Amino acid sequence: GEFRQLDFDKLSVLGSGNGGTVHKVSHRRTSALYALKIIHRGHPGAADEVAVVRRVDSPHIVRCHSVLPTASGDSALLLELMDGGSLDSLVSGGFPEAALAEVAAQALSGLAYLRTRRVVHRDMKPANLLVSRAGQVKIADFGIAEVVSRAGTHRAAYEGTAAYMSPERFDTEPAHDGEEEVRVDPYAADVWGLGLIVLELLMGRYPLLPAGKKPTFPALMWAICFGELPAIPDGAASPALRDFVAACLQKDHRKRATVADLLAHPFVTGRDMAASRCALCQVIEQRCR
Ligand code: ADP
Repeated sequence: GEFRQLDFDKLSVLGSGNGGTVHKVSHRRTSALYALKIIHRGHPGAADEVAVVRRVDSPHIVRCHSVLPTASGDSALLLELMDGGSLDSLVSGGFPEAALAEVAAQALSGLAYLRTRRVVHRDMKPANLLVSRAGQVKIADFGIAEVVSRAGTHRAAYEGTAAYMSPERFDTEPAHDGEEEVRVDPYAADVWGLGLIVLELLMGRYPLLPAGKKPTFPALMWAICFGELPAIPDGAASPALRDFVAACLQKDHRKRATVADLLAHPFVTGRDMAASRCALCQVIEQRCR
């Protein structure tokens, strides 16, 4: 390939997760900055992540410039650097509504693109939406993403972060004899995740459980599958935003809005594009020091 790992200097650690570590790196010859994500060879799904990343290319997906070979047999993804980091580090304090509309609109463009590539992300959460100081929002981390086949999805349901899993993903029982098998639209889980992201950014904290408690898995599962959505105080959100969140967070996946529905939703189409982009840039600028 055109790049080798030794062409780069490691500057700092941007983050780490179960897949590996992400470093901020600089290309020695050009001084250009990138993010380098090492995915350990033994990590389950490592090959899938590389395959999905090679399959996608969109302004709303974090771009992978190259997959570098390493001596140890691990994969190293050379990614475009998102200089605003991930939304999880900006949550505290909440987002103004105009900024939320911008996040929603750009994330939906990313999801609409993924659908054309038959890719389900399956791990939509604030840590996996990255932003730039110029106000771009892009989807990252295809560690458990899946390419949908005609036969439907086949991977185990219990993957990803439980707090952002949609209700139907907790239902792992196959249909019993005589029971009708409900076909689950695999894309609906990403819409749930997006709705939860928007609500979390509105409230300034994870919305489905009371603040401050470290949740157990059963408590999370109960809250997601049966709990009521938190009440948004009067005046804290417009009717359009309330309706948008409710449409994404329909517990029954068959009633949940689709990406196409949401791209046409007044919360998205009714925003003042310049003002909402500007509102998002302000949030990033204020909290990114
Ligand atoms: P994992 O699969 O291990 O969770 P991610 O791809 O989600 O890894 O990256 C972990 C964290 O590293 C992200 O939440 C983000 O803070 C940071 N990060 C990842 N990719 C980039 C990037 N391209 N630019 C800036 N920060 C990044």
